Amino acid sequence: PADEKLRDLLLAHIHDVPDYPQPGVMFKDITPLLADATAFAALTDALAEACKRHGATKVVGLEARGFILGAPAAVGAGLGFVPVRKAGKLPGATLAQAYELEYGTAEIEMHADAVGPGDRVLVIDDVLATGGTAEASVRLIRRAGAEVAGVVVLMELGFLPGRERLSGALEGAPLEAL
Ligand code: AMP
Repeated sequence: PADEKLRDLLLAHIHDVPDYPQPGVMFKDITPLLADATAFAALTDALAEACKRHGATKVVGLEARGFILGAPAAVGAGLGFVPVRKAGKLPGATLAQAYELEYGTAEIEMHADAVGPGDRVLVIDDVLATGGTAEASVRLIRRAGAEVAGVVVLMELGFLPGRERLSGALEGAPLEAL
């Protein structure tokens, strides 16, 4: 629950693009927010603050916009950053997690040694839609032996059941939308 001023600033720089990438989807374009120094800094500060508040020891960012938001948040909070990528992109030994899409399945990967026992990992992404990607990332982090500090996103699409889908995997860890 961020303050109203921050919320208004962020919302003013997010553009709704109808029917992208396919008919019926309202795409939330954050590129105007990234291009605005004040808004991007305010977002980075809020995410870094969330890292501290949730007692994170590492930040996981979800490909690709979760990299752009998660990396500066990690630096701001004095933490390391770990990318979770689409399958086949990471060079080392990985853990993989498949998840269901509306049509078909997808798979994400993380370096197996990137997080482990003793870590409290905060997951950062731009948009929580169906929750499938965030749910799979939470499972990956647990399989690596680390604790999940929570999931923080810029936006949650409240008309989709993402929060519900994620809640089982979170096991009580917080889901926060700025
Ligand atoms: P999901 O797994 O359905 O929660 O989808 C989350 C991923 O897809 C995030 O990494 C988002 O960047 C992207 N995404 C899904 N829906 C949208 C949307 N309407 N606008 C922008 N990005 C979206």
